[in-house]
Amino acid sequence: MKALRAAALSLAFAATAAIASEEPASIEFTAAERAYLANAPVVRMCVDPDWAPFEHIDERGQHVGIAADLVQLVAQRTGLKIALYPTATWEESLAASQAARCQIMSFLNRTPDRERWLDFTAPIFIDPNMIIAREEHPFVGDIRWLRTESVALPRGTMVEEHLRRDYPNLRIILTDTEDDAIRLVSASRADLTVRSLIVAAHAIRKQGLFNLKIAGQIPELGNQLRIGVVKSEPMLRDILDKGVATLSIEDREQIVNRHVSITVQRGTDYRLLLQVLGVALVLALFAAFWMRKLSRLNRELARLSVTDRLTGIFNRMKLDEALAGEIQRSKRYDQALAIVLIDIDHFKLINDNHGHQAGDHALVEIASLLVSSSRETDVVGRWGGEEFMVVLPHTDLAGACRLAEKMRAAIANHEFDGIGQQTASFGVATYHIDDQPNDLVARADAALYEAKNAGRNLVVGR
Ligand code: GH3
Ligand code: MG
Ligand code: MG
Repeated sequence: MKALRAAALSLAFAATAAIASEEPASIEFTAAERAYLANAPVVRMCVDPDWAPFEHIDERGQHVGIAADLVQLVAQRTGLKIALYPTATWEESLAASQAARCQIMSFLNRTPDRERWLDFTAPIFIDPNMIIAREEHPFVGDIRWLRTESVALPRGTMVEEHLRRDYPNLRIILTDTEDDAIRLVSASRADLTVRSLIVAAHAIRKQGLFNLKIAGQIPELGNQLRIGVVKSEPMLRDILDKGVATLSIEDREQIVNRHVSITVQRGTDYRLLLQVLGVALVLALFAAFWMRKLSRLNRELARLSVTDRLTGIFNRMKLDEALAGEIQRSKRYDQALAIVLIDIDHFKLINDNHGHQAGDHALVEIASLLVSSSRETDVVGRWGGEEFMVVLPHTDLAGACRLAEKMRAAIANHEFDGIGQQTASFGVATYHIDDQPNDLVARADAALYEAKNAGRNLVVGR
């Protein structure tokens, strides 16, 4: 019920806000309208004698309810004198209006049938039609979600006509009165009903059916309640329309509060809120899980993109990147930079004598020897084939040659798996001002070539 109370009024006002105007401005009438008003005719009004809380005729014969107050306000602001033309039933009112025994009808929807003899003002009140269900019924965001549910409806309403046409899956149970339709839902003899928000709220309250709630709305099915004016009185219609235009949100809100004895409580449907939070939490957890998984995958991808598949050390891409980056840095900060190019001696023989796989294995062992001989800041990678490169930031020629020598010795002293002794040659070069990466590599290559020519298993620095 909390949900109903909260939703009921905020929705009603949201809906009426659409047709509301600002402060009641003084109305500007035409000369003809002023003349009509000065004549002071008494306008006879037909109403629905039994449609609480919108309107009814009470035991003292007074027209009371939301419509009565709204029309009263319009009369006050326009200066029209309006008197009730009493009837016993709605049908009797319709007949009296058609026979022009009353000139206006207080509060009704515009329909093609009624347009035969009535003109209408702008809506004086907009009241949405709501889906009413028992507490346990899930929220209905859209009536198209419903499949074969049973819907209790009073006979001959606009809603019945609409649902039969557009939602033939729904099983419609007809009742004689508004109250009956709502009672069937409360008693579990129908799944839901679709009723005017104000009337449903009133009936639920009056009958104490607190196991009901508003489960959704049908936006295309609002009641746009207007004042109907017999066609022979176009000026009266215009005057009333000007009065209707002065009704503000506050005017309507105050009048509704007077008649719908629901505490205005702009609360929250906590059950729905919990469901929403629950779903949000699941989504958030799922998202967090994915983000972690994704960032792990991204890290792995980033690692793989710079790793040589055979040896597990950096690949050519990373060496190129490191070279370019370190050259930039050396240029800007005037720092020393050296590289060492390494080529395995007579590597072809390993393949020839022991097979390609043994050659691969030797490459892995060499990579690991290079890494373990290098420093933390050095970038050790496979340049291609059986050639490796080490980029040595902050290192001069002497320092680079010392490191290369250490590596050379590590390889020469290593007993390779199933192969035995193996050596490599080393070309060392240092950064010169205005070097491009290619210049540096070309000098290292030339030094390596010298080392090969000088008998291999050597370090040559330039
Ligand atoms: P040197 O450099 O001392 O002049 O002699 P080398 O035998 O090493 O000469 P070269 O550079 O011409 O030969 C390199 C060989 O390395 C040729 C190629 O078959 C082999 N090789 C290149 N990449 C791989 C690899 O990934 N795995 C194996 N097993 N062999 C490779
Ligand atoms: Mg080679
Ligand atoms: Mg070689």
